[in-house]
Amino acid sequence: MRFDADARARLRRMLLDRGQVLATLLAEVLGGKDRARAVEALGLHARPGMRPEEILRAALDHVEALRRMVEAGDDGYGRCHVCGADLGLAAMLEVPWADACRAHAGLAR
Ligand SMILES: [Zn+2]
Repeated sequence: MRFDADARARLRRMLLDRGQVLATLLAEVLGGKDRARAVEALGLHARPGMRPEEILRAALDHVEALRRMVEAGDDGYGRCHVCGADLGLAAMLEVPWADACRAHAGLAR
């Protein structure tokens, strides 16, 4: 993997924290709270018509999948899922759940 153990530990921690935020919101939404605004504020990709809980579940799955990649030392982590471009450590430390380069941002997997 391109990232050293230190960077991977930081990225893993950040992904765990993000997962916690998403899981908390999901629990609140499932509990009947209107958290549409909070979900919107996260800026998650969502297809038209997706319910907040669907958006949160998809985002949580995504974050969990990336965390498993970091833990496994998978070289695909930190690369664009379309073209394979290396996103770079600085960008990943800013948005550890990024998985697309600028050209391919917004494209669904
Ligand atoms: Zn790309």
